Amino acid sequence: EAKRQGRGCVRVFDESMDESIRFRRQIEGGLSEAIAKNELKLVFQPIVGRDLDITGFEALIRWCSPEYGMVPPAMFIPIAEESNLIHELGDWVIDEAIDVLKSWPGQYVSVNFSPRQFRRHNFVAHVVERVASAGVEPGRFQIEITETAIFDNVERAAEILFKLRQMGFRIALDDFGTGYSSLYNIRRFALDCLKIDRSFVDGMGRERESAAIVHSVIHLGRALGMEVVAEGVETAAQLEALRIAGCSHMQGYHLSRPVDAEDALVLAEKGSLAPQPEFEVAGT
Ligand code: C2E
Ligand code: MG
Ligand code: MG
Ligand code: MG
Repeated sequence: EAKRQGRGCVRVFDESMDESIRFRRQIEGGLSEAIAKNELKLVFQPIVGRDLDITGFEALIRWCSPEYGMVPPAMFIPIAEESNLIHELGDWVIDEAIDVLKSWPGQYVSVNFSPRQFRRHNFVAHVVERVASAGVEPGRFQIEITETAIFDNVERAAEILFKLRQMGFRIALDDFGTGYSSLYNIRRFALDCLKIDRSFVDGMGRERESAAIVHSVIHLGRALGMEVVAEGVETAAQLEALRIAGCSHMQGYHLSRPVDAEDALVLAEKGSLAPQPEFEVAGT
């Protein structure tokens, strides 16, 4: 009986494996045609300073598939990352982001690069070529990478980031605090910006630990002349706490959701977000 049961389990497991592999193949297939079929788009989320002045926008990819509906990047980027699709997709994102950026008065665009893109042979030449041929100042192009991208080959990563920064590109470390050897990375790499992962911002009001980490990163960034962006600001209370802590830049649903290119242009021309409702003290 045990044996039969065991076999049954194996069969169920195999079937679900089949299922996930099939799903993966489907996504891969759909994705490989998504560019040509015009199913991809970028949305842009404002990054603001303390006075709600818009300093930049993060470009975030969206796949509107007629078959699967709106597929979130968390679902398809990892699949693209496991095939060569990530390069084609990444190039589309760079070109599209630059195209939109050109009409903004002065803000930068912040583009996410996955580890595989970053490890690509001739990464520097590749990015430089695309940005330069579009006639865009490197200072308006921010490269967002995570610690995962630099972790496996620290020397190569340091060299690449140094070169890019020398040419005037902005470099941001995304999801800061969730990766490895964070302090080492800060010391070793040429960075303009630290993006505090939203899990810490989220925990700020509840846990002493998160609040302490957010405060430390803000001070560290400031002392080293880096911009610190708090990600995932969802409430007026978080915004206020971050301001009190001395945070220089913020991004999150409370300030603005990601918007399409047309609305981003309107915001960029206005230059700042409308003031948020006053911070309400509980009990008053
Ligand atoms: P990320 O780079 O850390 O981007 C921030 C994510 O947080 C975005 O999710 C954004 O919509 C979301 N977000 C912004 N404000 C808030 C908030 O207040 N609360 C909450 N809960 N979420 C907020 P999205 O667009 O789904 O992207 C998820 C991840 O997918 C990104 O995380 C990034 O790692 C990746 N990604 C997105 N676009 C690209 C791309 O063009 N290329 C690459 N390689 N990766 C991308
Ligand atoms: Mg990002
Ligand atoms: Mg992030
Ligand atoms: Mg994050």
